[in-house]
Amino acid sequence: MTDVFADLVGQDEAVATLRRAAASAAALLRAAAPAVARAGAPAAGGAHPTGGHDDLDALAEEFDEPGGATPRDGAGADGVQPGAGMTHAWIFTGPPGSGRSVAARAFAAALQCVHGTGCGHCPGCHTTLAGTHADVRLVVPEGLSIGVNEMRALVLRAASTPSGGRWQVVIIEDADRLTEAAGNALLKAVEEPPPRTVFLLCAPSTHPDDISVTIRSRCRVVPLRQPPAGAVAEVLVRRDGIAPDVAEWVAAAAQGHVGRARRLARDPEARQRREAVLAVPRRLTGVGAAFDAASALIEAAEAEAAATVAEIDEAERVALQTALGAGGTGRGAAGAMRGAAGQLKDLERRQKSRATRAQRDALDRALVDLAGFYRDALTMALRAPVAPVHTDTAALAGAGAQKWDAEGALRRLEAVLECRAAIEANVKPRIAVEAMMLALWKG
Ligand SMILES: [Zn+2]
Repeated sequence: MTDVFADLVGQDEAVATLRRAAASAAALLRAAAPAVARAGAPAAGGAHPTGGHDDLDALAEEFDEPGGATPRDGAGADGVQPGAGMTHAWIFTGPPGSGRSVAARAFAAALQCVHGTGCGHCPGCHTTLAGTHADVRLVVPEGLSIGVNEMRALVLRAASTPSGGRWQVVIIEDADRLTEAAGNALLKAVEEPPPRTVFLLCAPSTHPDDISVTIRSRCRVVPLRQPPAGAVAEVLVRRDGIAPDVAEWVAAAAQGHVGRARRLARDPEARQRREAVLAVPRRLTGVGAAFDAASALIEAAEAEAAATVAEIDEAERVALQTALGAGGTGRGAAGAMRGAAGQLKDLERRQKSRATRAQRDALDRALVDLAGFYRDALTMALRAPVAPVHTDTAALAGAGAQKWDAEGALRRLEAVLECRAAIEANVKPRIAVEAMMLALWKG
């Protein structure tokens, strides 16, 4: 059976929580349905002309407080307590690739599912997963941050009555990239949520750097863990039809990142880039080589990012120019072009922000691969009984373990992790990578 939660790899606990919440939300809607019928029928008398929405709203207030599950009486015939286990705002946390956005989308589908379970087959499930459900809004930040205007518009639309009669769902991927002003706009909505609106935020953690303490306090947290390699391999075989032996090594190499594992299995260029990164430790023979390796790593990330965004950039530019009627010669065309210049400038600014993000993401993937190599050297030096991350460079990591010992391997691993942290803290990537390469060489 493949319902909407099937793709959440190795997250049994989170899935159980979400199933319970979806069932409880569905029970609320069922409990509200007779009220709508009563209010809508002329015989009920005195019902106000907009129908039974007040009744629905009152029921949605039955949600739990975000702090915890409050036991209450009144379980329905199906044994589900309407409202218990459900709340207006959720945060999905976990390391990259653990499936934060997969979990948020699956939960959104379960809320819109006509059976209330996330069956995976009904129109509610289908349209939500396909991204076309009228009552599900998805914010995927392309640049480095989500701005206040975008957030205000979103909050406003989210307050409207769900057209499908169930819930308005707002999914914010990378909620850690909210600007402070955007965070405040969101906070207002989360503090006094419209009765039928559910906010689903995704962030690496609930650390105050990632999500403000006040927003956090209004949300229920669903922690996701890094899925074990075996679970990742299993889903690659089952869903993507990847050969078991390939699935096994890419799952280990991707260190629990499902999307990364799939890309390694399918994309020869991704495998080549990984090989180039894993060749770095061997090439660090002196200061000059360290700077060369830094340049190569930065340029590879830039090239990868450029390839990722080039197509979509061009499509956006053409679409905007068409929309603005570029090339028009009639009266008013000159005035239109002046406005158009502003819009083009705005588009360029957003595209630049997206390119920067793509570069950082590409560089971060490379650093994660590199960290895996030094982790292998460390575990080998410690003779820890764990499988290597990179089976194809295990011999090289073993040689490193002998040469550096555990302490030297640990220092190198830390140098890579410090580089990641520095880039996250907005240190210029080239400077951070050069410092790392020198540390890796010196040890
Ligand atoms: Zn369904």
